[in-house]
Order: sequence, then structure tokens, then C-alpha cells
Amino acid sequence: MDTPSPLPRIFLQAGGDRRVALGHPWAYSNEIRMDAATKALPAGTLATLHRTDGKPLGVGTFTPHALIAFRVLSRDAHTSIDRAFLARRLERALALRNRCFDAPFYRLVHAESDELPGIVIDRFGDAVVVQINTAGAEALRDDLLGAVDDVLAPATVVLRNDSRGREGEGLASVVEVVRGSADSPVMVEEGGRRFLADLVGGQKTGWYFDQRDNRLFTAPFAAGAAMLDVFCHTGGFAVAAATGGASRVVGIDSSQAALDLAGRAAHANAVDALCTFRKADAFDALEGLASGRERFGLVVCDPPAFVKSRKDLATGLKGYRKLARLAATVVAPGGFLFIASCSHNVDGPALVGEIARGLAAAGRSGSILRQAGAGPDHPVHPHLPETGYLKAVLLALD
Ligand code: SAH
Repeated sequence: MDTPSPLPRIFLQAGGDRRVALGHPWAYSNEIRMDAATKALPAGTLATLHRTDGKPLGVGTFTPHALIAFRVLSRDAHTSIDRAFLARRLERALALRNRCFDAPFYRLVHAESDELPGIVIDRFGDAVVVQINTAGAEALRDDLLGAVDDVLAPATVVLRNDSRGREGEGLASVVEVVRGSADSPVMVEEGGRRFLADLVGGQKTGWYFDQRDNRLFTAPFAAGAAMLDVFCHTGGFAVAAATGGASRVVGIDSSQAALDLAGRAAHANAVDALCTFRKADAFDALEGLASGRERFGLVVCDPPAFVKSRKDLATGLKGYRKLARLAATVVAPGGFLFIASCSHNVDGPALVGEIARGLAAAGRSGSILRQAGAGPDHPVHPHLPETGYLKAVLLALD
């Protein structure tokens, strides 16, 4: 048997190895000794990472022109990165989800947190959506798809390679059904309810698994009252509240395609008579409801990220403040307000700070009942706070 040719060796600058040695999965380009040969390596090359003195730190992928130049796949530099390796990683991710969930609907792989940098996989029964976000992961694509087959043998595989992050890695935006067919939305089971997800044309991978626990926790606060779901997408919070005993539910979103699926989910759960889904801009709709003196026992606001990069921080924070002000205005006395942020640059205290200012501006007060993140299928990497991007706050208002 041929011995495989050794992988290119990437060297850190003197003193640049501390973070990686402590368990951080990345080395930045300015920490790497960039000689001509290193700079000339193609994006996503498999390589080993070394201290200045040659000691190996691990094996991973290297993209010379990216800020996050090296992403560690294994701390053992001798590990072969192949289909069998990826299958072992998937098996481990699967074993973790099997402990947490009794039905196969979840995020199976949450990138670095599952030691698969740049890779996201959502599972919808026998259909999976794979999202490849980095050049390093792109180079592993065929082995990854093989490993998905080996571990799950899914009937349908959709590649949602249309994330924002790909552009920065020099990757094209493309959606492909690589196995089976995804012509119609698939069913998602959550908390005993049924929803619909469009794996090909829907937002992100078609369903926001990250809010599962928050939907389940929040729904009972609408019991016996009217509920407003702002940024309702395909009806996750709305239908949970309607089946949980809300007297009526209004969902607002700017996407008609998402609203259509929300309507179908309401029907599938026999609560369509209680639900109204309306296409509108969220801020306009809230202003309209406020001036129309409509009030709700529970208001849920789960907007898209207002802060997509650091430079938007000040504007984005104001967005959360305004949202809290308008939403608080339409909460009935003694009602409840849920606000989430999926901006990874906004931490929990910053979000709470903006909510507090928004409440004050609306002339409301209240207390926080629960602060949460995503469910356990979105593990947080201890060195990468951004893997815990979701922050959710539930308040009881006076
Ligand atoms: N709460 C949802 C997920 C929300 S994702 C769930 O549980 O599944 C954010 C949603 O906000 C998307 O559906 C998007 O279409 C919608 N959206 C984005 N900008 C909007 C705006 N200005 N007004 C109303 N909806 C908007």
C-alpha cells in the first residue's frame, strides 16, 4: 500500500500557539508564518499545524487568504481526514442528539461545536440539509456527503450552500438537491406539533431548530389570552401558542412563502380557526397595532440578526430598543413579552440593556422570568462565544 504523501506543514509564529494549545480551534492569518509556499497553498488545503519548534498541534484545513486561516479538525496530527473520520464525527454528534431528543428532528451538526468547522447539518426525519460555510469544509464535500450516507442513509439530501458566510471564503452560492427530491415541504415534529419546512427555498435550512425550547417554554404564557408572533416565519411560536390554549393568534412576517407554511402548520394542528397570518413589515405592523389599541397577553419577537457585523453594532442595538418599545406597548397589562436576538455580536447583557431602555420608553416595567439560548442541538464551543449566538429573554410586564 502506498503511504499517503505527508500534508503541508503550517507553522505558527513564535508565541502564537498559546490559544490553539488551550483548545481554541482556529489560528488567525497574522499568527501564521506566511512564506511564499504557504501563501500559495489553495484555499481549504488539508494541513498540519505546528509550533515554531516543529511540535505538531493538530490537523485541519488552511486557507491562506482568510482571516481565520487554520481550522483544527483533530488535535492528533496523524489523524487521516477522510470519509471514515467524518463518519466518526457524525456518529458522535448523532449519539449526543439521541440522548437529547426522541424524534429525528434537530440540528445534527453545529460546526466547530461538533468539531466539524464550517459544517452545519439539520435533520428532518429521513431528509437532511447540509450547509458548507468554509473553503476547508468545501474541500471535504464529497467525503462529507459519503459520511452522511454511511451514518444516516437519508432519502433526501439538500445542500444549502447559499449562506452569507460563503462569500467571504470565496465560495459560490448554490442550492442543490444531491439525493432524492425536495419538491414539497417536509414535516417537522416538535413538542407534539407538526410544522412544515421548505428545505430548498425556505430561509436558512427551512426551519429554526434553535428556538425549540423557547417555543415550548413560552407557549403556556399565552393560555387564555391573545398572542402576537412578530417575525413569525413558518409559525413556530404562533402554532405552539395556539395549540397551548391561546384564545387567538396573530402572526406577522414579511415573507409570504413563510406565512403560507405557517397557515398550513396551523391547519395541520387544527388551530387554523384561531390563527391569522399577515404579511407586513414588523415595525409598521407594531405601530399600527399600538395606535389601534390592540393588546396581547403574549408578544413574541424573534427578528433576523440586526447586527450582522461589528460595524452595525450601534444601529442594531437601537433596533432592539425600538422593537422592545413597540412590542411592550401592545402587551396587555400583566402580560408577557419574549424578545430574541440571533446577532452573535450582541451578548445577553447588551440585549437586556436595550430591552430595559425600550420598556422605559414605552412607560412599562417588568421583570425577567427566563433568559435562555438555543437548545442542546446547538452546543456552544467554550472558546467560541459566537457559537452561542442566540439570546432569548422572557419578561412579565406590570
Ligand atoms: N420565529 C421564527 C423565526 C424567525 S426568523 C420561528 O420560530 O421559526 C426571522 C423572520 O423575520 C423571517 O421569517 C423573515 O421573513 C422575517 N422578517 C425579516 N425582516 C422583517 C420585517 N422587516 N418585517 C417582518 N418580518 C421580517
